[in-house]
Amino acid sequence: MDCQKCNKCGATFFPNGEGGYHLRWATGKVGRAEGLAGLVCIPYGNDECINPMRHVATGDTWAKRLAELERLEKRNGLS
Ligand SMILES: [Zn+2]
Repeated sequence: MDCQKCNKCGATFFPNGEGGYHLRWATGKVGRAEGLAGLVCIPYGNDECINPMRHVATGDTWAKRLAELERLEKRNGLS
């Protein structure tokens, strides 16, 4: 497939020639489809979303980020 832009999350997917994708977020930042799925497409997406990883919740999620933040805060004695 050619480069495709998701109308839902605004991310652009580029085939990497190995059956996977390079991804740019709407902000232009390079990311991973799994991460986008966990942060945007799964919570906010619908069937319009073209993220091939949309049904795969193995990437980054807000819950994981929150847990990581709490861990760092504890380590730094901030909470
Ligand atoms: Zn999407």
